[in-house]
Amino acid sequence: MMLELDSLTHRYGSELAVDDVSFGVEEGELVALLGPSGCGKTTIVQAIAGHIHPTSGQVALRGADVTDTPPESRHISVVFQQSTLYPHMTVSDNVAYGLTARNIDSERRTELVSEYLELVDLSDQRAAYPAELSGGQQRRVELARALAPQPDVLLLDEPLSALDRTLRERLRDEIARIQRETGVTTLFVTHDQDEAMALADRLVVMNEGTVSGSGEPRSLYESPPTAFVASFLGRSNTVSGPITDQQPLTVSLGEQQLVLTDTQTELPTGTTVTCHVRPTALSIRPPDSADTPLSLAGTVTRVTDLGKRYDVTISVDAANDLVVEQPASPPTVGDAVAVALPAQQLSIFGPDGCTRLDEALAPEAST
Ligand code: ADP
Ligand code: MG
Repeated sequence: MMLELDSLTHRYGSELAVDDVSFGVEEGELVALLGPSGCGKTTIVQAIAGHIHPTSGQVALRGADVTDTPPESRHISVVFQQSTLYPHMTVSDNVAYGLTARNIDSERRTELVSEYLELVDLSDQRAAYPAELSGGQQRRVELARALAPQPDVLLLDEPLSALDRTLRERLRDEIARIQRETGVTTLFVTHDQDEAMALADRLVVMNEGTVSGSGEPRSLYESPPTAFVASFLGRSNTVSGPITDQQPLTVSLGEQQLVLTDTQTELPTGTTVTCHVRPTALSIRPPDSADTPLSLAGTVTRVTDLGKRYDVTISVDAANDLVVEQPASPPTVGDAVAVALPAQQLSIFGPDGCTRLDEALAPEAST
């Protein structure tokens, strides 16, 4: 493992910002650390880079504990959201600056500057000053400067968050290409789930200082290990109901019974459980369709035309409003409908949001 965090915990005074976080990044891997603002991502970056000393826990690089190693001896580069380029230095001087500390002779330094400016496609801007560059070009200079010392680990802390959407998507693809070409072990920090899913080999999803789930983007999306991952990673509908029987395990959803034949739980009868289901997994049927084993009766309250799909909002008596994604021929507002729940595509959680009841239905759940 190139980078490994073991039970990393950090307090600012009495505030617990990072709580017992453990995960690793393999050599050459691109892992996204994803979570809402304030969940502790930057604190983790600072602890890995050595800018803060964690309250407890360890940071290891190539298997060696570096928790007490000063930042300059860690061979880690960081790119932050805000520019840290020197305004009075040219592009090539900015890139070279990262190399002076490394005791690299001037000939080799010039070579590396050229090589990395070429990598980020900015060879023609070597003599420009940062203020003469666009926002996207400035980001690419930062990347070149971070990569030129050939770090063991590249930390990117929301590097695209200050850019507009089109540029963000273009640079995201550039980062993917550059990471592939250099093979640098990368931890990409973001609050943007689309960005994380598009870029990363693997995601570590954080919530309130703790890891809420980790795994490949698709398996986390399709089989979320926690209610937080289910709601944060893509959209999900929730339907709640009590456990009404244990043998076989039965959950009451509206006037319907969901029977989980292969599932056992310690949770007692009467406990409210919550099913998460993706908008694409739901389907709209006529109100009295007899062929649907599990469905909820409701009324269409809103149809939003998003060009490539419709979002149909349905008010149901037995649950929160449901949103169904439909590619074509949407119903009309006011229609009485039935919403079919596909039992195989429900993720069912106990009241803590972390106990999954339907593991047997979803064997690939990863935590
Ligand atoms: P993120 O990068 O995910 O937005 P941070 O690691 O910046 O999260 O912050 C995690 C928590 O720690 C937040 O509640 C934040 O207010 C708090 N925090 C961050 N930096 C400091 C600091 N220097 N002093 C006190 N509290 C801080
Ligand atoms: Mg942050």
